[in-house]
Amino acid sequence: MTQARWEELLQDLKQELETLNSSASGGRDAVELDQSRVGRLSRMDALQGQAMNNAIAARRHNKLLAIEAALERLQEKEFGYCIKCGDEIALKRLELDPTVALCLNCSK
Ligand SMILES: [Zn+2]
Repeated sequence: MTQARWEELLQDLKQELETLNSSASGGRDAVELDQSRVGRLSRMDALQGQAMNNAIAARRHNKLLAIEAALERLQEKEFGYCIKCGDEIALKRLELDPTVALCLNCSK
């Protein structure tokens, strides 16, 4: 894997998340519009769904931050090295999730 390939991969991931984010906020608006004409119970359902959407959005946001950080490490030529001990991160680990910043030992 070259640096350029990793960057491409991370940009793809980022794009994907950003697309998901914009469709998710559309969903949130729909919930709010519905609230005026639904009953108490279904409004609770809607709020619960909204809370879940928010949790998902928060997770996506964290993932986005992790991607940004990984892209930054690429720029600094530090990508692929553990941010804690400086050891090389196993390729298999990076292939599974290119945003990992810790080697296997440090993530335990
Ligand atoms: Zn480490």
